[in-house]
Amino acid sequence: MNDATARMRLESMLSELDRSIGILRGGQPAFHERSAADAGAVLTDADRNQAMLDVATRQRRSVLEALKRIDDGRYGLCVDCGASVPEGRLEARPEAARCVQCQSRRERRR
Ligand SMILES: [Zn+2]
Repeated sequence: MNDATARMRLESMLSELDRSIGILRGGQPAFHERSAADAGAVLTDADRNQAMLDVATRQRRSVLEALKRIDDGRYGLCVDCGASVPEGRLEARPEAARCVQCQSRRERRR
């Protein structure tokens, strides 16, 4: 995948994410008069909304970082070890910052 293709895909991901984030931010469930039994359900909806917002916000940051790597001419190189990130991985996740080994090492650390 060349940089121009990657940039195009990342930019379309970015506008998609911006749209989702806008919807999620505006989409907090409205608080109506509810019985105590319903209060748990409201909280769960709000939690789920917040969790989705967190994921979208994190992904948006990765996309922005990937766009910056294109600008710097480092796109497609693992940010940890500098090895090239496999083409197939970038196809699936154009915002991927790490090769498979470094990513799994990082996820194990969490
Ligand atoms: Zn690596």
